[in-house]
Amino acid sequence: MAVAQGQCPSCGAPMTFGVGASHSQVCKYCRTVVVRTDRDWQNLGKAADLANTPSTLAVGDRGTFRNRSFEVVGRVQLDYGRGPWDEFYVQYNDGQWGWIAEAQGNLYVTQKIEENLPLPQPQVLMIEAPVSLGRYGNFKVVERRDARMLTAEGELPFKPSAKRFYADCHGPNGAFATLDYNDGTKAPELFVGMIIPMGEIALKPRGGERPGAVKTAMTELTCQNCGGKLPAPKAGIERVSCRHCNTISDSSTMQVLARQGAARQRPVFQLGTEGTLGGTKYMVIGYVERSAYVEGEQFFWQEYLLWSQTVGFRWLMLDEGNWLFVNPISSADVQCNEYQAVWHGRTFQLRNRNDARVEYVLGEFYWKVEVGETVAATDFVAGNDVLSREKTRDEVSWSYCTAVSFAQLAQAFGVNPNAMATGFAYNPTPSYDSSGNASSGAFGGFTTVAIVVCAIACIICIAASSDGSGGSYSSGGSSYSGGGSSFGGFGGK
Ligand SMILES: [Zn+2]
Ligand SMILES: [Zn+2]
Repeated sequence: MAVAQGQCPSCGAPMTFGVGASHSQVCKYCRTVVVRTDRDWQNLGKAADLANTPSTLAVGDRGTFRNRSFEVVGRVQLDYGRGPWDEFYVQYNDGQWGWIAEAQGNLYVTQKIEENLPLPQPQVLMIEAPVSLGRYGNFKVVERRDARMLTAEGELPFKPSAKRFYADCHGPNGAFATLDYNDGTKAPELFVGMIIPMGEIALKPRGGERPGAVKTAMTELTCQNCGGKLPAPKAGIERVSCRHCNTISDSSTMQVLARQGAARQRPVFQLGTEGTLGGTKYMVIGYVERSAYVEGEQFFWQEYLLWSQTVGFRWLMLDEGNWLFVNPISSADVQCNEYQAVWHGRTFQLRNRNDARVEYVLGEFYWKVEVGETVAATDFVAGNDVLSREKTRDEVSWSYCTAVSFAQLAQAFGVNPNAMATGFAYNPTPSYDSSGNASSGAFGGFTTVAIVVCAIACIICIAASSDGSGGSYSSGGSSYSGGGSSFGGFGGK
């Protein structure tokens, strides 16, 4: 339904605004940015070409989640220096509008809050800073960026501007918020909503009717380095490391971005292996070797990226000979200080702190993974369970890790239960990162040296735990372990 009809001031093609909140539109024929005012339609010049991205959504698609139907009417492409991502402007069947972004196997669904809530100054929004959003609850900053808007498509609820500072926040019970400070010339805007697993969305793509719309073809990929065939990437996959030659490529363009040496260890679970854990079917799609220095010695460990149609991404981790199933959780549900972390009323004690570095990757990844990327990792333990934080200057993610026996994994994924005894052949070839530097550390299965925590006389102020209501982002059944939620984490978006 049109709220305004006219012609593109540049090429004369018919142009329709379908959403009352739309202020501008990119002409689908000539890519001129047209701004709608009370008096006329203005030509703001040409929009840059759209980059190919691994987005599941596209302008023109219709979809439904949690009994709510929407149509994608526009998108912006943004970048903070590591390649573009998309955010989609949607109109709901009840006439409301909002934004949907995809990351880490989840949809971040938000709507603009019109009521006048005082928002903090952008300079105080450090990672994990508390943000109180009135009746929406208490949030925590999980990501802050200075981004640039590269280009756009379709209708937009604003006049495009190049700069945008924003802070993304986790809130209670799966809530998500974005504080958008735009280019600093206008009042900041608040968007609040939910994180929803991609598996909950039903999409009806409107293929063929969208000139200029680009979408990752869900077909087999060909490595441009070795010519080897690779499986079609899962939705939201950004990087692919070739299983034949180890080169790392962009999943949309298949441009080779980096080379790396051989793996140190032979993966126990091969890429493509499927298995059912806790009633959810997963496929092993990625394998990562990471390392950390502890008292001058380098230690290595392994992680497996699992993908499920329903819950998105999860991790399996081999830690000191123990296997852990890794559930991403909401940062807003964790209260922590240097020595303890409390999550849903349970207290975890500090075990270790180190800088974890990616040494080797194989398969598909939902973020722009690079060999050498490093996060500050902190583990807190309670019994066999681990609460893990990974933090950079601009991002934080928390995970709840539960022990799972290798026998159980071997049975679930159909591997030899004795594989653990034979699967870890020492590979004497040093691995090389993309800059060609050999990593020279000692080989180790993986050991985390516990830091002896002297908690005596420390006055530990941990805020009262959350209301214990469980805080699951998903509508149920999607998490393997009891208290986990399905929000994606581990590695950033
Ligand atoms: Zn035009
Ligand atoms: Zn290859």
